[in-house]
Amino acid sequence: MMSLTLRALHFAAQQHAGQHRKDDAQTPYINHPIHVMNILSDVGLNDDALLAAAALHDTVEDTYTTITQLEELFGLEVAHLVADVSDDRSLQKTQRKQRQIEHMPHLSAKAQWLKIADKTANIEDLLHHPPQGWPQARLLEYVEWAIVVVAQCTVRHDALLQRFEDVAVQARVVFAADTPVSSTSYIGLK
Ligand code: NDP
Ligand code: ZN
Repeated sequence: MMSLTLRALHFAAQQHAGQHRKDDAQTPYINHPIHVMNILSDVGLNDDALLAAAALHDTVEDTYTTITQLEELFGLEVAHLVADVSDDRSLQKTQRKQRQIEHMPHLSAKAQWLKIADKTANIEDLLHHPPQGWPQARLLEYVEWAIVVVAQCTVRHDALLQRFEDVAVQARVVFAADTPVSSTSYIGLK
């Protein structure tokens, strides 16, 4: 791993200190950016600025870090990548979700890869370390939205898209299977 990436990971760990994921085990938040970095590296995306941005990708959304600060510490490319994958926090949740769908095709290749790796990591977490108290329908809703976001990508990366698709398909099967069967489909089965 190159020094820019290690510096970014160290900074992200400091910024996310004390934060937890939403799962039962209250996993330290920094595990998630590391998971995203690992997915990118697994599929052969080892670009230093991309991995540094993956380490930092939730610092602006979820900590007091600013894009200006990231630019000073890690340079323009990393700061732009993080800005590209950060939601506008002044918007309502539903608007943010819609905006992610609309923005995807306009992002740079690296930003698109980062978004796909983030969605992949989150769906892997939904399967293995789900947020506390989420009913199956909500888990499924997240997966369906993530599939729509990723479907808007205009860049190719076969290994990354395959990894996303594998986990999304698995999650769909697992979460849809546990969703109560409606009376209509019951009649269909008879
Ligand atoms: P949230 O934004 O609340 O949660 C999803 C995000 O949580 C992920 O993108 C991830 O973001 C982060 N996260 C933290 N811990 C985990 C974990 N263990 N596993 C996976 N992700 C984790 O949810 P949504 O806004 O996506 O909610 C989906 C929809 O559900 C919304 O449209 C909302 O309106 C609706 N909703 C449904 C409810 C229901 O009970 N059915 C209740 C409330 C809302 P990151 O990568 O940034 O860490
Ligand atoms: Zn994330």
